[in-house]
Amino acid sequence: MSTASEVRRAGAAIFQGILMSCALACVLASGAALAGIAEDVQALAARRDVSTREIQNQLDAMRGALTTAPASARREAQRLQAEVLIERGQFRAASEQLAQLIAHTEAVHDDQMLVRALVLKARLAYYRGQPEQQYEAARRAVSVAEPLGVQVLMARAQQALGMAYVRLGRNEDAMRTLLAALETAKKAGDVPLGGLILKSLAVVQTYVPDIARARQYVEEARRTIEPTGDQWLLSEIEILRAIVSGPIEDNTSDLPMLIRAHRMAERLELAFDEEISLVNLSDWYLNKKEWARAIEVSKQAVDVAMRFDEPEHSGLAYMNHGLALIGGDRAPEGIRQLEEAIAVFRRSGEDAFLANAIYEVAKAYERVGRMKDATAAYRDYRVVRDANEGRSRARLVAEMQERFDAERKQTEILRLREDNVRTTAAAETQRQRAMFWSIVAGLTIAAGVAIGLMFRRTQRVNARLVEANSQLAFLAERDSLTGLFNRRAMRAWIETQTVSSEVSPMALLLFDIDHFKAINDRLGHAIGDEIIIEFGQRVQALLRDGDRLARWGGEEFLVVLRGVSAHQLPALAQRILRSISDTPFGTSIGPVPVTASMGFVPFPLDPEAVDEGWEGHLAIADQALYRAKGSGRNAGFGVLALVAPWSEVRRGLAESFDSVIANGLVISDACRGGASLVDKVIPFGGRNYSPN
Ligand code: GH3
Ligand code: MG
Ligand code: MG
Repeated sequence: MSTASEVRRAGAAIFQGILMSCALACVLASGAALAGIAEDVQALAARRDVSTREIQNQLDAMRGALTTAPASARREAQRLQAEVLIERGQFRAASEQLAQLIAHTEAVHDDQMLVRALVLKARLAYYRGQPEQQYEAARRAVSVAEPLGVQVLMARAQQALGMAYVRLGRNEDAMRTLLAALETAKKAGDVPLGGLILKSLAVVQTYVPDIARARQYVEEARRTIEPTGDQWLLSEIEILRAIVSGPIEDNTSDLPMLIRAHRMAERLELAFDEEISLVNLSDWYLNKKEWARAIEVSKQAVDVAMRFDEPEHSGLAYMNHGLALIGGDRAPEGIRQLEEAIAVFRRSGEDAFLANAIYEVAKAYERVGRMKDATAAYRDYRVVRDANEGRSRARLVAEMQERFDAERKQTEILRLREDNVRTTAAAETQRQRAMFWSIVAGLTIAAGVAIGLMFRRTQRVNARLVEANSQLAFLAERDSLTGLFNRRAMRAWIETQTVSSEVSPMALLLFDIDHFKAINDRLGHAIGDEIIIEFGQRVQALLRDGDRLARWGGEEFLVVLRGVSAHQLPALAQRILRSISDTPFGTSIGPVPVTASMGFVPFPLDPEAVDEGWEGHLAIADQALYRAKGSGRNAGFGVLALVAPWSEVRRGLAESFDSVIANGLVISDACRGGASLVDKVIPFGGRNYSPN
């Protein structure tokens, strides 16, 4: 073998080696570039400290590089794109992205991404107000996540399911699921996810509603999220925090907090948060009759709503803007906004808002002298309202027939409850105007009498207006299931009874039906509702003229007795408990035995305790109720008078109710209902009473 050929061969080998290492380097380099873009997408997805616009810009800048990126990075980018679109209020576009992404992940069996896409889909449905779709997406996310065994994904899916339950009004399922999610997130050591779940728990509590607990959760969520720098989530938390800063039903939230929350949402360009915070802000100004500010802020809400790519979410913004303009003496413009709101509500099918908006526009027409339009609108209002009520009744009937179809039943109950909430919300907006309105109605009648001599027709219109008004005033104060006073009306009434230092003696009796959840579970919610109605009737039948009964919560009732002294209370309490326990309730599926427990307290408990207010006394009744539950239910327990000075009792109560009783700091008494049939008919597990 010649040296020359060896040299040639060696040269060729070296050349080949160089070629190969070049090729390898190229492969490695492009691999690094590919890994680079995947990392970039990851890093971008983690950035929650800048505005959604910024993220969108960066995504746009990456578009070119993404075309050659690995498929998994492209999917992650698409998921991020959908998320940004959702946060920017581009729901329709987001929905298309998600549909593509979900189809794609299914095709390539990327189950981890599928879970995340489904979680986003549930969130989108939440924003769009589509509870059924939300539930379906979340449910599926959980079932896909379960076999994967990835804790973080499981916790995310559970969080989504929890929020879906909230929307369906299934608060207990929501709590259970979210607490499980929190546990899983903690196990996985995912602190930010824990914060998100805490926020969701706060949301549930606003529906329960237990505002004190909602505040606790929201503060804990804030403490958890603040160090992580997730500004997007913090923005949501701030809004929630502002909303729960006052008693929700009074809409007396903390104004600076609302303003701060809005600024944050605005800076981050989180469209949905912006709209919510502006609608809440404009509510605040509307309540305070600060028309100029209300106009300005509600206009901003309308502007934000216009940026959404679906108009169905802007009804409340238009409505508040309309009300503000009308309040600010710009009725013709206000009317146009209300008409816009009505059109939106008609499209979105939010009938209770619709009824409310029509009612408002009717009043406005009347105010500007468009009597013909006003009459037509009042008629329309009654049609929509009656249709709502008719639907509610029809739902109840359907529910009784399909008692075993649990899923459907829950949805119906959601609708009923939502109707309730909406009617109450509508009533709230009108409460302050109710007084003004009754004056208007009075004037209208007076004017009707005068003018009616000449125009009989006007008289007829006026009669209709008065009727519409009285119906509305009734709705505003009443719970729609039982027809009893609602919590708000009861509060307002008690306030009028306890003004100034001249507190006339009263007694507060707080009831809670025993094992009501089990009654619902076994017999169905429709029967549960029938029991709630009859419960109200039985208690009402025992009261005197000056007394008052209200539906205080789901299956909680509050009675205020007038002119009874403390020593009479145990006997009275026992009479009421007996009227419940002694005869089974006559439901449409036959007799059902029911018992209730009760806590009672005179107000004031002692002249010194007056400053504690009726709400402070109600808290004592609540603790007494808790004790009655603990003593085996079908029982009452009450605090009747002080032994120790009030300051000492007060301190003791803050520590432990039971030790105040045990140490004899107060005089207390217990009573029991009649021998109960309940345990024989419906066997219960040994569950302890815990307030929610
Ligand atoms: P306990 O008396 O020991 O407190 O047990 P409970 O089952 O009553 O426990 P809890 O107070 O937690 O349950 C109340 C249940 O009442 C939960 C909720 O689903 C149900 N509920 C609340 N409002 C309504 C309603 O309007 N209709 C029906 N059917 N059920 C309701
Ligand atoms: Mg209860
Ligand atoms: Mg109960």
